[in-house]
Amino acid sequence: MDCIFCKIVRKEIPAEIVFEDNKVLAFKDINPQAPHHILFIPKEHVTSVADLENIIVISDLFAAMKQVAQTIGIDKSGYRIVVNHGKEAGQAVPHLHFHLLGGRPLKWPPG
Ligand code: 5GP
Ligand code: ZN
Repeated sequence: MDCIFCKIVRKEIPAEIVFEDNKVLAFKDINPQAPHHILFIPKEHVTSVADLENIIVISDLFAAMKQVAQTIGIDKSGYRIVVNHGKEAGQAVPHLHFHLLGGRPLKWPPG
């Protein structure tokens, strides 16, 4: 499978992994938009939120995000969770991923 995030799951290309269990992988974004910018993905390939069939994976991802936010110490200061789907949202990688952003004040609405 020629998917960059599947390659990260298989450890074929390097990433700074911050969390891993049998269903979820979390790693630092290569182009961070905040002091903390971590991507959370299901290990099983899902192209985007619109193709999600196994909804259970969402609770696994949220459990991991909650845990990592505590571990890196942004649970009190606050953080943002973002999922981009499709062209107008700017989804660049066609493997479902949640962005966890924190460590600075974040503006709203997003651009
Ligand atoms: P999207 O725009 O699809 O929601 O976000 C894709 C994110 O993946 C971007 O923030 C981008 O910086 C990140 N990204 C793209 N390729 C790689 C990579 O090879 N390694 C890592 N760690 N992040 C990547
Ligand atoms: Zn994939």
